[in-house]
Amino acid sequence: MFSELFYPSSCLSCGKLGSYICLRCESKMREYNPDRCVVCGKASLYGFTHPACQGKTALDGVLSIFHYEGVLPALLKGIKYRLVTSAQREMLQVVKPAEIEKFYHFRRIVRDADIQAIPLHSQRQKARGFNQSIVFARWFSHLFGYSFVNFLERNKAAMPQASIHNRALRRGNIKNSYILKENSLVIGKTIILVDDVITTGATMNEAALVLKRAGAKKVFGFSYARG
Ligand SMILES: [Zn+2]
Ligand SMILES: [Zn+2]
Repeated sequence: MFSELFYPSSCLSCGKLGSYICLRCESKMREYNPDRCVVCGKASLYGFTHPACQGKTALDGVLSIFHYEGVLPALLKGIKYRLVTSAQREMLQVVKPAEIEKFYHFRRIVRDADIQAIPLHSQRQKARGFNQSIVFARWFSHLFGYSFVNFLERNKAAMPQASIHNRALRRGNIKNSYILKENSLVIGKTIILVDDVITTGATMNEAALVLKRAGAKKVFGFSYARG
């Protein structure tokens, strides 16, 4: 990017000059291990939803790389508001081989799937310039050989969650916030939703519901960070 030619990179979390993630901040990033069931929060292999928890979510499993804590919120916010491709590259470079390995194990079990990034509200994407979930989605797709699809879009009527302060309203607002694009062939398919961060899983569950209602067989979630 143009600005990178003129400004030396500095740590998105602490500001130290030299790189977008300094060694000290990198050492504080904690791998999300063991993976956990999205419903009960208890450990589960490769994040698969426990059989007893399956009725309470549309997600068949969620797999994540890092805990959303410490330096992670600042890093994700940093790449969100600054369009810096080398910062994104660094975020992917700090992922340890052991973490990538668990996704390969998952890949051996779930062979045939499509990757779908959680879409941003089109107006927010316009304001921000890009949807960073797509960066992670393309990375997962490239690394594991899953094809990248674009079946979902944000319902324009739904408001950005951050602008609603009432909890009940927020919950209501999440509902119907995604719609299936015309001619999306999801019947019988396995789809992996990708987001930069998952906190309660409510947003991802809502997207999974839309896909399941349209006939998707299985829906999983991958995320860079998990709260
Ligand atoms: Zn730092
Ligand atoms: Zn469970």
